[in-house]
Order: sequence, then structure tokens, then C-alpha cells
Amino acid sequence: MKVLFCSTHPLHTADFLADFQAALPVVEFIHWREDMPTQGAELAVIFQPPDALYAREPGLRAVFNLGAGVDALLRNPAFPSSLALYRLEDGGMSAQIAEYVVHAVSRIVRQLDRYAEQEADRRWHQLTAIDRREFPVGVLGMGVIGRKIATTLAQLDYAVAGWSRSGQPLEGVEVFGGQSQMDAFLARSRIVVNILPLTSETSGILNARTLGRLKAPAHLINVGRGEHLVEEDLLEVMASGHVESAVLDVFRTEPLPKDHPFWSHPRISVTPHIAAQTGRRETVAQIASKIEAYLAGRAVSGLVSRELGY
Ligand code: NDP
Repeated sequence: MKVLFCSTHPLHTADFLADFQAALPVVEFIHWREDMPTQGAELAVIFQPPDALYAREPGLRAVFNLGAGVDALLRNPAFPSSLALYRLEDGGMSAQIAEYVVHAVSRIVRQLDRYAEQEADRRWHQLTAIDRREFPVGVLGMGVIGRKIATTLAQLDYAVAGWSRSGQPLEGVEVFGGQSQMDAFLARSRIVVNILPLTSETSGILNARTLGRLKAPAHLINVGRGEHLVEEDLLEVMASGHVESAVLDVFRTEPLPKDHPFWSHPRISVTPHIAAQTGRRETVAQIASKIEAYLAGRAVSGLVSRELGY
């Protein structure tokens, strides 16, 4: 049995291949390149693959994505509708994103930017402490990553709420479900963290209307996708003072163009899509066990719903 490995991302392809081969010696992992003849493979491990893969390998039945987000694959008209698509579930990313969010939240609540300014002036001055109950946090998207963010913040005694399609309960977190409960979720949140998947329903969900419903002065942390945010609307709600600061890891155009106003905005922090990076060990172990389950005819978790888009 052959499994193709196809990535256009500057990942450590040789290391991934060696690790996949060691994890699953019963199959032959092949580094797929555009100049090779058709391999007739049924399965592939992919990350941002070129469209040529689908045309050259018409025998593909299932692909395993090396990332959690599948929006780019699903909106690609070349991606065959018959292919089963399995996504990475956590893969070491939830702890990284929770850590990123805790850092962003504590910068706000513990006034760390103001202490950095004081330090630059060699000024020893204790600011009045802020009660964290004044900063209810709302997490948009309560999947494998959103749940980790929510429980981590709840363990630090933040008042945390989560919003998802289903509103599935989670201990220690107030849950809201569906469109009908969205406004109530926004109205109780002062810091909003977005970790939704990008779908036709969630595109543009961070806009003047939704951001305007947050408890002011509000703060935005976007670690989902750039297309969730209507960028002009953020600048507008920040100019009005309703939203005080934003920490953004993802953008409509990546890399963020050098002349983009976000770079120089004094209250916007930009990171280059690094809230989580794929952990090779966890990823290989997880995908190898998905491939094993697939080959054994067992149910494979992480199957993406084409209808829902995640
Ligand atoms: P999951 O599929 O596990 O969870 C998705 C969550 O979003 C679920 O709670 C789901 O609701 C909810 N949801 C989806 N659509 C809607 C909707 N229309 N209305 C309300 N809720 C909705 O995803 P992950 O947690 O694994 O990842 C989420 C996203 O994070 C990825 O798609 C990716 O874009 C992004 N990401 C960003 C990274 C970065 O470095 N910045 C790294 C990794 C991921 P329900 O529970 O009811 O199904």
C-alpha cells in the first residue's frame, strides 16, 4: 500500500517522511512531486498541495490534512468532491493557542504594556490592580482548540463563555449556542477570542455589528482566520473607542502587506500566523493512527463535513 506525502509548505519534508515511515512500516510513504509518474495511490497526507496532485492521482480516495483548518482546500474548485478529507484534531496546537491567548489576555488584564513603558523610564510604580471579573472572556468556536482555551482561562478564574453551533456544555464555562444566542454571548463578553473555522457562515463574523455589541471597552483576539474579520470595521470600532485593543495572528492577506495599517496601529498587535505551529511528533502519531484505522475499515475521526465546511 502506497501513501503519498504532498506539501508545498516549507515543512521538514524529509523528517516528516522518515517519521511517518517509522510510525507505519506496513505502508510505503512516497514524497509526491509533480515530475513523477502516476503512483495509483488511494491515500495521501497533504499540506497546501498543488492542484496537479488531484489530476495526476485520480485513484485517491482519502486525504489527511496536516492542519486543522480546511477552508483553503474546500474552496478550491480543483479539490475533488468525492475525496474524503480528514483534518488534524489538536495535534499539539490547542496548548500552544491557549498559551498565546493567556499571554494576550494577561497583557490586558495585568497591564503589562503599561509596566513595559514604566520599565523603559526606569519607573517603579505599582498600578491599581484590576479585578479579573471585570474582564469576562468569550470564546467564539468551542471545538478542540476553543475548549482548551476556555478551560485554561476558567482555571485562571476568568469568567468564560463559549459560543458554538450546538452549545454543547462544558464544565466551568457558560455556553451559548447558535445565532439566537449570539447577541447575549457578545453582550456579556469584554474580551472576545475567535477560534472558529472559516466557512460561508462564519466569514466576516467579526464586524462592526458584532464587535459593537461587546462590553466596552472591549478587546479582540483573532486566532481563527483573517477572513473572519472585516478589517475596516475593526479600525472603525477602535477609532470610536468601543474596542480598545486587538491581537491578531491571522489576516486576509498573508504575509500582511508592509503598507497595511495594522502594522503601525498603536493598539493592534500583529503576529505572523504562529499562534500554533504543527507539532511533528503529535501530528505523525495522530495521522498514522487515522491511516491505520482507515486501512482496517474502522471509523476514522476528524472527517470533514462538506455540508458544514468544517
Ligand atoms: P473544530 O472543528 O474542532 O471546532 C469548530 C468549532 O466551531 C465547533 O465548536 C463548532 O460548533 C463551531 N462552529 C463552526 N461553525 C459554526 C457556526 N456557523 N456557528 C457557531 N459555531 C460554529 O475546530 P478546531 O478547534 O480544531 O479549529 C478551529 C479553527 O482554528 C481551524 O478551522 C483553523 O481555521 C483555526 N486554527 C488557527 C491556527 C493558528 O495558528 N492561528 C492553528 C490551528 C487552527 P459545534 O461544536 O457545534 O460543531
